[in-house]
Amino acid sequence: MSLEITRLHLASLQGIDGGRWPVHGFVVTHPGGAVLVDTGVGGPPDMLDDWRVVNRSVADALAELDMSPADIALVINTHLHFDHCGQNAVFRHAPVYVQRAELSRAKRESPELCEWFDFMNARFELLDGDAEVLPGLEVIATPGHTEGHQCVVVRGDQDGPGGPGPFDLLIGDAAYTPRQYADPDLGKLPAGQASDVPAWRESVRRVRSLHPDRVHFCHHTDIVHS
Ligand SMILES: [Zn+2]
Repeated sequence: MSLEITRLHLASLQGIDGGRWPVHGFVVTHPGGAVLVDTGVGGPPDMLDDWRVVNRSVADALAELDMSPADIALVINTHLHFDHCGQNAVFRHAPVYVQRAELSRAKRESPELCEWFDFMNARFELLDGDAEVLPGLEVIATPGHTEGHQCVVVRGDQDGPGGPGPFDLLIGDAAYTPRQYADPDLGKLPAGQASDVPAWRESVRRVRSLHPDRVHFCHHTDIVHS
């Protein structure tokens, strides 16, 4: 069984360095139904103005893959910032896998975003740490960017000749760019990279120690190969 990852371009916004940053989501095709990791941008209009968002509908992005929101069986949010969960409501039919700590953080810190992620009948599957979501698809808790941030691990063919195949890491905002991933001890971090710097460093060290074959970023187009 091999899971396929397709990157969606969901928006661009003005990054904290003044440059334009992409906002990516990822579709993981799975025999049990497609999985969407992060749903793109949504939130109050003044928030979108502040970040100078050029937004796309996630339904339009899926249409380019000949998919519709109904084809998404399950959503994973790496965390509940407005550029990662903003279009969750498009997938009311699907359970949303998120860390329990992240949902409480977001309710506490971002009440203005609640109607974008905690709408009526939102179906949360609350996780406490690392978890297997589906065969070959796992989340690992990586606190630091936010208290309940998680990364997604997509494993290749487990039974192929030569043992387990390569695996991919969808890093979310655990590292904004390859630079932060390459060296978490690098002096100055971009604003917003870490709400808890020691926890963030520990999380990046942990994901690096797993030696993912490919690392995909939410806000950077490069894929890091190792
Ligand atoms: Zn974030």
